[in-house]
Amino acid sequence: MIKLNNIAAGYNKVEIIKNISIDFEEGSITSIIGKNGCGKTTLLKTASNLLKPFRGQITLKGMDISSVPNKELAKKVSFLPQLRAVPNITVYNLVMHGRYPYLGFSRTPQRLDKEIVENAIENMRLEKYIDKNVQNLSGGQRQKVYLAMVLAQDTDIIFLDEPTTYLDINHQLEILETIKKLKQMGKTIVMVLHDLSNALSYSDRICLMENGEITIYDTPQAVYESREIDRVFNILSTQVAAEDECKTQYVFCLK
Ligand code: ADP
Repeated sequence: MIKLNNIAAGYNKVEIIKNISIDFEEGSITSIIGKNGCGKTTLLKTASNLLKPFRGQITLKGMDISSVPNKELAKKVSFLPQLRAVPNITVYNLVMHGRYPYLGFSRTPQRLDKEIVENAIENMRLEKYIDKNVQNLSGGQRQKVYLAMVLAQDTDIIFLDEPTTYLDINHQLEILETIKKLKQMGKTIVMVLHDLSNALSYSDRICLMENGEITIYDTPQAVYESREIDRVFNILSTQVAAEDECKTQYVFCLK
């Protein structure tokens, strides 16, 4: 789907990530994990073309993304950064921002754009907030509005940088369930997740990074069994079966 081939990237000529070759699988959730500063956000930004790589190639369904005009790429790839100022705007108008790559010169939304925005709001169950100012919403609700905006952008690939950080646990799980719903719609999700337990439980693939390189990219089970998480974070991980669900959970403690 989206494939990075021997990528190196960074800032001011300083290489932060290197030797990155990875093929994010279509219709799956991949979580990028690793210690602070190891290059997770840099990888996400590079993969979404926000940061130009020093070398290497990124292809989307075989097409070199550096040759795709920005507006066209924004119809294929969306990126939700972690830190955002809270805009003074209604839910409806913020979600409409997702339609910008599709609007013509006059920037006037057409009937189809309005329908897509309304559907995205419905999908995220935000109908009752539609005319509310985003500034008056809770962190969890606001994050859902941003996901609705991404949904309205209607891209096959969605990059999310720490979508659950700073949220209460119930809102974290709600956002992760929403992300699962996006996957069920056929989207390819690549996200940076801080919470290892959530990353292992909610993802199809885990990409573990260390010092700007990928240590292992595999299923959560294979990554767990490799014990590489334990080595990188200097912890001991254990797999447990949740009582009333057949879902596997992971707990972590100091060595
Ligand atoms: P992570 O997401 O794993 O915490 P980042 O990709 O954000 O790591 O950062 C990796 C390294 O790149 C850090 O050392 C950070 O200081 C540096 N870095 C990140 N953003 C910039 C930037 N805009 N300019 C210069 N250095 C940066």
